[in-house]
Amino acid sequence: MTIDLRSDTVTKPSKGMLEAMFNAAVGDDVFGEDPTVIKLEKKIAKLFNKESALFCPSGTMTNQIAIKVQTQPGDELLCDATSHIYNYEGGGISFNSGVQAKLLCGKGGQISSQQILENINQNFDWLAHTSLVCVENTANRAGGSYYSLAQMQELSKTCNQNKLKLHLDGARIFNAIVEIPSLKKISKLKFNDQNNNTYNSQFELIAQEIGGCFNSISVCLSKGLGAPIGSLLLGNAEFINKARRVRKVFGGGMRQAGYLAAAGIYALDNNIKRLNEDHKRAKYLSNLITELSYVDSVLPVNTNIIIFNLNKKMKPDGFIQKLAKNNIKAVSFGKNAVRFVTHLDFTDDMLGKVEKSLKNIF
Ligand SMILES: *Cc1c(COP(=O)(O)O)cnc(C)c1O
Repeated sequence: MTIDLRSDTVTKPSKGMLEAMFNAAVGDDVFGEDPTVIKLEKKIAKLFNKESALFCPSGTMTNQIAIKVQTQPGDELLCDATSHIYNYEGGGISFNSGVQAKLLCGKGGQISSQQILENINQNFDWLAHTSLVCVENTANRAGGSYYSLAQMQELSKTCNQNKLKLHLDGARIFNAIVEIPSLKKISKLKFNDQNNNTYNSQFELIAQEIGGCFNSISVCLSKGLGAPIGSLLLGNAEFINKARRVRKVFGGGMRQAGYLAAAGIYALDNNIKRLNEDHKRAKYLSNLITELSYVDSVLPVNTNIIIFNLNKKMKPDGFIQKLAKNNIKAVSFGKNAVRFVTHLDFTDDMLGKVEKSLKNIF
C-alpha cells in the first residue's frame, strides 16, 4: 500500500462518483448544450449566491481568467508573496494578462486592508494602475491557514471603497468553510438569496456570506472534494459572459464535459462535510511531528496542510527518500521544509502507518 501525502490532488474517484459520471447526460458544452455542466454551474452559483458560474479544467485557468477579465495590460494587482497565482501558475499574470504583481508580505499568507491601502498606486502617468486584489483561502504555502469571515468582509469593504476588484483563489475554500466558526448572529436569521431560496444551514450561510465579499471566486473540485478534474469560476452574469469567451481563447472550451461535471456534483453532495476528518488527521499528525527529534518547527495546522521544518539532524531529500522506502510519498517545500496534505484517500489505517514510520525513521 502506498500512502500519498504529496497533495490532496492525488485522490481517485470513488465507485459512487464513477457511477455518477457513467450515468451523466451530456451535450456539447461549447454550444452551451451540456445539461450536467449547466446543472453544476447553477448549483455552485446558488451555493455562493452568485449569478453565474463557469466550469473549467483547472484552478490555474479559473484564476488566470479572473485576472484577464478584471485587468488591462499594464495594470498592477496586489497579492500575498506566497500566493499560488504568483508562484505556481507559470508566470501567467504577465504571460496572459500583461499585468504585474505587487507582492505584499502578509501574516500567515493573509493580507490586510491596511496593506492594501498602503499599496494602491496614485493616479500618475508613471505609475501602474492598481486594479485587482487577489487573496487565497485557505493559503497553501502558509500551511492551510484561513481568513475569517470578518477579515474577508473587511477586505471587501476596502476594495469597494477604492474601486478595486477582489478575487478569491478558493482552491480550498471548502476546507475554510467547514472550519470558520459558526455564525451565531446570522444563523438565527432566515436568509433569502436572489432566487428567493431560503437557506438555514450554517454551511450554506457562510458560503453565501463569502459570495457577497468577492467580485470573482475560483473553487476547486479536484482537491479536498475528490473529483478527478475541474474548477469553477463564479461571478455576476456579465463577468461570466466575458470569462466564457476568455476560457475559449485559453483553450478551455470542453465538449461533452458533463461526464466531468457529474463528478463535481457528486463531490459537492458527498464530500464537503467529511473534510473535518482530513483536518482531524492533519492535527493529529502535526502534534506527533512537533515531538520528533529531527523536527525544528511546524506551521500552525488549521485545515489539511502540514508544513514542517527539519533540523540539522535530517536533510529534506534524505527524509523524503526514507519515507519513500516506507511507501510514503511527500514533497519538500522550500529549504528545510516538508509538506504533508491529508485527503479523502488517506485513512486512519494509513495514519497509523505514517505515525510508526515517522517515529522509527531516525
Ligand atoms: C491547486 C491550487 C490552484 C489550482 O491548481 P490547478 O492544479 O491548476 O487546478 C490554485 N490555487 C491554489 C491555492 C491551489 O492550491
